Parts: sequence; C-alpha cells; structure tokens
Amino acid sequence: MAIDPNEKFSRILTIALGVCAIAFGIVGFDVSNLTPLLAALLLFAVVIAPRASIPLPGTDIALTFSDACIYLAFLFYGGPTAILFAGIETTANCIYLYYRKGFRFQPYMVPFNIALNVVSFTAAYLIWTILPSTRLVTGPFGSVQHLIVTLGTISVLHFVIASSWLSFIRAKNRLSEAYRSWRKDFSSRAMMHIVGAGLAALVYMLATYGDILTAVISAVGIAIVYFSYRRSVQDLKEAMLETEAAQKEKAETERMLRREAEVYASELAASLESQERANIALRKSEQNFQHAALHDALTGLANRKLFHEKLMDRIAAYRSDNTAAYHVLFLDLSRFKNINDSLGHTIGDKVLSIAARRFLRLVTPADMVARLGGDEFAIVLKGPSTAAKAKKVAQRIHSSISQPFSLSGNRISISVNIGIAPADMEYTTPEEVLRDADIAMNYAKAQRESVALFTRDLRTRFLERVRLEMDLSHAIERGELSMSYQPLVRITDGKLLGFESLLRWNHGEFGNIPPARFIPIAEDSGLIIPITKWILRETTDQMAEWRKISAETRDILVSVNISGKHLSSEDLVYDIECALERSKLAPEALKLEITESTAMDNPEFTLKLLKDLKRLGVQLSLDDFGTGYSSLSILHKLPFDTIKIDRSFVSGVGPNGEDSEILQTIVSLAKNLRMKVIAEGIETQAQLSVLKHLGCDYGQGYLLAKPMTAAKAEAALYAGRTWLPYQAAENGNSTNAELDRSDISVF
Ligand code: C2E
Ligand code: MG
Ligand code: MG
Repeated sequence: MAIDPNEKFSRILTIALGVCAIAFGIVGFDVSNLTPLLAALLLFAVVIAPRASIPLPGTDIALTFSDACIYLAFLFYGGPTAILFAGIETTANCIYLYYRKGFRFQPYMVPFNIALNVVSFTAAYLIWTILPSTRLVTGPFGSVQHLIVTLGTISVLHFVIASSWLSFIRAKNRLSEAYRSWRKDFSSRAMMHIVGAGLAALVYMLATYGDILTAVISAVGIAIVYFSYRRSVQDLKEAMLETEAAQKEKAETERMLRREAEVYASELAASLESQERANIALRKSEQNFQHAALHDALTGLANRKLFHEKLMDRIAAYRSDNTAAYHVLFLDLSRFKNINDSLGHTIGDKVLSIAARRFLRLVTPADMVARLGGDEFAIVLKGPSTAAKAKKVAQRIHSSISQPFSLSGNRISISVNIGIAPADMEYTTPEEVLRDADIAMNYAKAQRESVALFTRDLRTRFLERVRLEMDLSHAIERGELSMSYQPLVRITDGKLLGFESLLRWNHGEFGNIPPARFIPIAEDSGLIIPITKWILRETTDQMAEWRKISAETRDILVSVNISGKHLSSEDLVYDIECALERSKLAPEALKLEITESTAMDNPEFTLKLLKDLKRLGVQLSLDDFGTGYSSLSILHKLPFDTIKIDRSFVSGVGPNGEDSEILQTIVSLAKNLRMKVIAEGIETQAQLSVLKHLGCDYGQGYLLAKPMTAAKAEAALYAGRTWLPYQAAENGNSTNAELDRSDISVF
C-alpha cells in the first residue's frame, strides 16, 4: 500500500528523533549498570514480557509487562538505561509479533514503532527532569510518595506523547481529526501504562525493601494471581466465545426463521394470488356457465329456459294489470331442413345466425327473441296494444327474412311461418301461450300463409287433429282401416282395367272419416308410411286372389296411392318388393299413383326413384294431373305409364260437351308422351262421351262405379259385371246404381 507523503515524512522524522534519543540513551548510559539484575531484567523484557500479555476481555487492549520493564529499568538504573530498554523491548515485541503472530509490518513501521516508544519515553523523562514535581517530592528516593509522583508523571507523559503523536500522524496532521482519533483509539490505553507503572513500583518496592522470602512469596503470589487471572480471562474469553457462538447461532436461527417466514410469506402471497386468480376464473366460468345455461350457443339468443322466465314475468304483469299487453310470436323457418340436407350443417348454422340477427333488428330492446331449438324461434313483444299491430310486426319480420342472401357462393332464400298468440287472462304458464302461438303457426303453414293469429276455434281444430292423429296410430290394430276399390274402365268397350284402392277409416267413435281429413294428418305425422305398408299387403293379396277368379279378371291391376312422405323414404322400393314377394302378384298388376305435385317437388329425385320402381316391373301413374304445374321438359323424362286427368277438368265439361279444350290438350299431350290417359271423376254421360270422342283410354267416376268394399268388388267380378252405363242397360246386367248403393253407407 502506498504511504501518504506527509505520513512518510512524519515517520521518518520520528525515526530520526528516535535515533537521537537512542544516542542520548547511549551517551547517558553508565557502564556500572551492567549487573546480573539488568541482564535478568533485559532477559525478562525480551523473552517473557512480549508473551506475557493479559488481554482485557471485551476490548482489543492487552496488559503487558513491557512498560513495567521500562519503568523498572528507570527506577533501578535511571533514564538513559530506560531509554535503551524502551528501544530493546519494542524491538523484541516487533520480532515476537512478526515471527510468532505472523504480523505483516508496513514499510518503516518497525523502526517507527521503536523510535516512537523511545522518543516518547525520552521526552517524558526529559520533561519529568524539569518538572517542579520532582522537587516537590519530600520523601526519599524509592519512597511510596516518590514512586507515585515519579512513575505517575512519567507513565502519563509517556502515554500522552506517544498516543498524541501517533494520532497526529494518522490524522494527517489535522488537529481536530487527531483529537477524535486519539479519543477513539488511544484514550482507553492509558490504563496499560498506569498499570505498568504500578507494577514496576510494586516490584521495585519488593526488591528494595522486602527480604528474599517476602520477594519470593510475593513473586509466587503475583505469579498465582497472574496465572489465575490468565485462567479466568481465558475462561471468560471462552465463555464470551461460547456466548458469541450461541448468539451467532441464535442470530443464524433467527435469520433462517426470518428467511423461512419470508419464503412462507411470499409463498402465501403467491398462493393467495393464485387462489384469487382461480376465484376470478371460477366467477368468470360461473358467469359463462350461467350465460350458457340461459342462451343459445349458436345464435347467442335467449334459450327456451330464459324465454320462459321472461314470458312468465309478462303473464304475471298482465294478470295483475291487463293494460300490460304482450304478444307471443312463434316462428318456424320453412324449408330449413332442405338447406341443412343439401348445403350442409355449417351453412345451416349460418342461416340460423342470419335469421336470428334479422329478427333482432326488427324488435325493440323491450322485446325478447329466443331460439327454442332447431329452426324454431319465439319472440315476446311488449305490447303492442292490438293484435293487428302485432300482425304488422310479424309481417315485417316475414318480409325481412324472405330477402334472399348469398352464403359461400349459394343464393339462399328462406321463409318463415309465424303464429301469434295475444295476451289472455286464461294464460297462467308460458307453455300455454307458446302452445297456442304454435297452433297458429301450424295453421299458417297449412294455409300457406305467412302469419296467422291464434283463435280458440283453431285450438279446437288442433286438438281434434291431435286426437285423430293419436287414434290413427292405433287404427290398424283396432281394425278400423279398410280398403275401398273403385273400378278403372276402358272407355271404348267397358273392359275392366283394374281398381284404384282407396283407404277408409271407420273411427270407433266418430264413424267414417273422409280421406281428405285423415290422409293429411297421416302424412304430416309420418303414419302414412306404416299405413301404406299395410295397404300394399292388403291390396296385393286381394289382387292376387281376384286375378284367379276368371279369364276376364286374370289381367286386372290395382292402383295404390303413394304419398310424398313415403316416396322420399328409403323404404318404398323395399316395401313394394316385400308386398309382391308375399302375395306372389305379378309386378305389372301393381300400379303406383303419385300425384303430380309430389312428383314435381324434386324431379331429379323422383326420376331416380321411378327408375328404381320401374326396375321392379310395377306400373306408374301420374295422379291428379293438371294441378301440379308439371314442367314438360321434365315430364317426358319421367317413366309414367299413365296420366290421370284431375277430376276438376272432367267435372268442368258441361252437358253438351262444352269446356273440354283442356281435356283435349291433356289427352293429346299424353298421347305425344306415349302414355295412357285415365280420366277421373266421370259423373255424366256427356263427360264420358266427350272423353271417348277425345280418345281418352280409361275412365273412373261415379257414372261408372263408386268406390266399393272389397266384398262388393269381388261380387261384381264373380258376376262378370259390365262397367259402361249403356252396356248395362243393353245387356240387362245389374246397374251401377244398384251395385253402388251398398257402398254409400261407407261414407
Ligand atoms: P285420388 O287419389 O285422386 O282418388 C280419387 C278420389 O276421387 C277418391 O276420393 C274417389 O272417391 C273420388 N272420386 C272418384 N270418382 C269420383 C266422382 O265421380 N265424383 C267425385 N266427386 N269423386 C270421385 P277419396 O276416396 O275421398 O280419396 C281422396 C283422396 O285421398 C285421394 O284422391 C287420394 O289422394 C287420397 N287417398 C285415398 N286413399 C288413399 C290411400 O290409400 N293412400 C293415399 N296415400 N292417399 C289416399
Ligand atoms: Mg289416386
Ligand atoms: Mg286423383
């Protein structure tokens, strides 16, 4: 380490002064002082004193015998000898520290230390010589008074000079700093010098005034005190070390506990934080869950549950105050199933979302739109005051939803049927209101209207319909269904082509129910499929039997009406195969009647299906022709064997054959398409004559024969009945009127 130049100077100055002081000591040294006692004292100072230090517990100060040696030398041999002793003793101390304690001295430090001790003692000695105190001492040399004054003065001066000078050097010559440093580092060391002086005085007095025995006893005593003190200091030191170690351990434990507490606290904070996060997530998921529980995931509209809740509020409000009107709209998207089937569910979902948005646009925030499921929606309108106003809103919704739009390159147009249920005191639950709105919607659908308002009459009809539907599902097993047969006759010669089978339902409670009432119910409910399977079994079995009656009946056929529902089911071909296989009826003896409107609903599908049916060998007839807007370009592709002209065109022909132009057109069209023509609903001779004249192949109508029970038909077959009215008269056979009378009761 580089030494400050000032300090270096001070040290060198001190060393120089030390050299002077030693020189002073040498000059003043009396050779006669070289006695064994001096040698012993010197030996003690050099060998024992550096080792025999007594550290003061709790301080960095150690009491040594070095100063005592210097003061003893002074007492026995005077100042110059003591000055040399100070030099020798300091040198011995430095050597001891260097070799035994591994102390590393800075440059100049050893000579400086020696010089400092020598100079300070010399200065103390010189000052003492000139102090009046020396003269004030009245006692003889070596007396207690003399020793106290002398050694007290010298030891204090020795200490003050040495410590002040050293503080001055360390404080880089600044006085105030020097004083602070002195107070801090040296003031406590004054004791060492005083104790050293006291020790020297004690030894001196023992050596001078005591006998040998006292000296020995005193020396032994001092040694005992010294060693016990050393021992107790050692014990104290060990105890302090132990306490220190215990304190350290305690501090370490506390530190660890603090650390653990800190870790625990931060873990606790982290866990609280994550718990808080989990709580927030939980609350959020609870909210999401609640939202999901009350809303439709696809459209975001309220779901049935939420709708019911809101509607319940409206019902309650209206019941307590009938000015709080409301109207419930039940909406059903028409043709939505087609979109789903033909364009896929993804497009279907988008269509539903678009519909939902359009509904929302047309209502006020006080109203509520909900998706009840599938393509069914409901709206509860707050107000309006009259049903007519509610109808206007519904019509606006209808025209908005009917606006075509594009989706993934597809031009899509949808429509909606809307039923409206106005508020009514009789409603107590949302289900009742929705049921009536649904009834109105179904009515609108059946009437092909966009909007219908609920009335109680509608409900009565609806309930009837529900009752009929339920009863119809048990009609086969209850034996209430039967087949009626109406002859199909060749117009030119009255030859029997076969029969059209017509379903009859003799209801256990209501009696005969006309097909026009129950067939639509059977079609809507899907019951028509199992019923047609039953009809196919009945009629094919019947025909197989009748064809065996005679040569005239060998080629007759049965014509079975097939509904659109059954046509679009995958089972039809299979059901027919089964019926034919079971009855062993020749396939060409079975004709299937498909109405024009059904056939033209989906012509591509119809074409494929008809081809499959043709492969079975059965015949096909296009029923009710003229009512279904056939496209001629498609018609010629469809493999029909016959066209049945709808009754309405036949009944329009007057008694003199007027208004037969359409009939003429249809007949010639059929001929061009190479199809046979059957005219339905022939009731008059004039109609028959016109048809014969036009070249119509076959006829069916009350004029020829009304539909009859299987038993009647069978009887007619056995009787070989003729079917043209004039033939009957000519041949004297039983008349149509006679035969038909029995069937009239069926209606
Ligand atoms: P459709 O297939 O066109 O059957 C002819 C209807 O015209 C029958 O009525 C028949 O009784 C009636 N009819 C025949 N000649 C005359 C006539 O000269 N004057 C009048 N006013 N009517 C005549 P029906 O039996 O009441 O059947 C009505 C409709 O019900 C049928 O029309 C057919 O569409 C349907 N239907 C009847 N039976 C069945 C069936 O077994 N299955 C299916 N799917 N539909 C059937
Ligand atoms: Mg028919
Ligand atoms: Mg018909």
